[in-house]
Amino acid sequence: MENNEPTNTNNTPAIGYNRRRFMEDAGIGILAATVIGELASCSSSAQSVNGGKSLADTISVNLPPRDALSEQKLSGPPALLPPQKRIGFAIVGLGDLALNQIMPAFGSSKYAKPVALVSGHPDKAQKVAAQYGIAPKNIYSYQNFDQIKNNPDIDAVYIVLPNSMHEEFTIRAAKAGKHVLCEKPMANSAEQARRMIKACKDAGKKLMIAYRIQYEPHNRLAMKWARDKHFGRVKIIELANTQNAGAPGQWRLKKALAGGGSLPDIGLYCLNTSRFILGEEPEMVMATVYSTPGDPRFKEVEESVLWQMHFPSGALVNATTSYGTHKSRRYRCYADNGGWFGLDPAFDYQRLQIEASQAQGNLEVKQSPDMGEKDQFTLELDHMAQCILENKTPYTPGEEGLQDHIIMEAIYESARTGKPVKLNKIDKPDAFRGSAPKDEF
Ligand code: NAD
Repeated sequence: MENNEPTNTNNTPAIGYNRRRFMEDAGIGILAATVIGELASCSSSAQSVNGGKSLADTISVNLPPRDALSEQKLSGPPALLPPQKRIGFAIVGLGDLALNQIMPAFGSSKYAKPVALVSGHPDKAQKVAAQYGIAPKNIYSYQNFDQIKNNPDIDAVYIVLPNSMHEEFTIRAAKAGKHVLCEKPMANSAEQARRMIKACKDAGKKLMIAYRIQYEPHNRLAMKWARDKHFGRVKIIELANTQNAGAPGQWRLKKALAGGGSLPDIGLYCLNTSRFILGEEPEMVMATVYSTPGDPRFKEVEESVLWQMHFPSGALVNATTSYGTHKSRRYRCYADNGGWFGLDPAFDYQRLQIEASQAQGNLEVKQSPDMGEKDQFTLELDHMAQCILENKTPYTPGEEGLQDHIIMEAIYESARTGKPVKLNKIDKPDAFRGSAPKDEF
C-alpha cells in the first residue's frame, strides 16, 4: 500500500508521538511523512485504523508553510568576512565544473573570493575575469602558472583540470607557496596522491580534496544517523552512481587523462560516501568490471564496475557504477532495528532528498525531512578558506583522497584476478581528518 499525500493535522495518538520523537532525536523539526505499508501482521485496512480516518491522518503533525522554514534558516547574523579579509583563490582550468558550479558558488561564499584564473584559452579567461571582476593581470596560462608565487592576492588554488593533471599542478602550486583545493579524483594513482601529499607537507601548505558530499547537509545527516545508530547498527549499504558517458574522444574516456572509467569518476562517490557514512575503512573488496564489446566509448576505460566491501564492524557495502546506463544516483543504508534510510538523488548538485523508513507498531512509516538547499561548492570553498584562516587541517585532506586510490586499485586488482583483495587494517580511520564544519540542520 502506498500513500504519498502530505499530511497536515495533529490528532496523533501513540504512533504520532513516536514519530515526533524520531524527528526530534534526529534534530529535524519538520518532515513530510507517509505510511508506506502495513507490516505482514497488520490485517486492518487504512480506513479502519482510526475511526474512518486515513492512516496518514493518524500519524500526522503540523507542517509549517515552506516560507516559514526558509525564514528560520535565514535568521541569525550573516557572519560575512569583508572582501579584503577573504581567502583569494586562483581557479585552474575553466571547463564545465569551474564555469557552471564553482565560479557561481563564490557568490554565496562567506570566506572565499576568486582572484585569479589559469587557462589555456586567454579569450575565455578574459571574458570570465570581466564577469567576476578579476583583474586582467591575474590571468595565467598553464605555462606561466609558476609566477603565481609573486602574486600576494592568491592564497590558494582550486584545481579543476582533467585528473592526470592534478598531480603536476598541486606540486607546482605548493612550490609556489600556495594552498591547494583539488578536485576528485585526487589523481590517477595512489603513487601520485602520495607525491601530492608530500609536496604540500614539504611546503607547509594545506591540501584538501573537494569531496563536496562530505560537506552537504543531507548526506551529513545520513552520516550522523549511521554513526549515532539512530535506527540501530547499519549492516548493509547499497549505492549506485550511473550515467551514460557522452561521445568517444572526450578526456574522461582516455585512460592517460582520466586514470580509469566510471570508477574513479562517478563510482568514487559510492566508495567515498560509504566510508564517510560508516566512519570505517574496508578490510576486503571483491569486484567485477565489464565493458560492452564493440562500444567505441570503452576502448581504453571501463564501462561498469560492481563491487562489494567488508568493513571491520561487519557492515557490507554493495556498490554499482556505470558509464553505460541511464543515470541513477542513490544509496540506502539498512539498519538492524527495523529501519532504513538513504538519499535519492544522493550525489546531484541540487534537490537532494533524504528519506527514512521505520517500523512503528504494525505500520511502516516513511519520512522525508525537508532540509532546504545549500550550495555544496560554497560549503566546501568556505571550509577550505576557514582552514587557511584558522590554520586547521581540512576535513577531507589529501590522505582522504589517497585512501580512495588505494581502495580503487584493490577493486581493479580483484576484478583482474577474480579474487577478493584484502586491505591493510586502519585502526583510527578518522585520524588524518581535521574537524568537520558545524552542522546547521
Ligand atoms: P571539463 O572537460 O569540462 O574541463 C576541463 C578543463 O581542463 C577545460 O578548461 C580544459 O580546457 C582544461 N584542459 C587543460 N588541458 C586539458 C587536456 N589535455 N585535455 C582536456 N582538457 C584540458 O572537465 P570538468 O567536468 O570541469 O572536470 C574537471 C575536474 O573536475 C575533473 O577532475 C573532474 O573529475 C572534476 N569534477 C568534479 C565534479 C564534482 O562534483 N566535484 C563534477 C565534475 C567534474
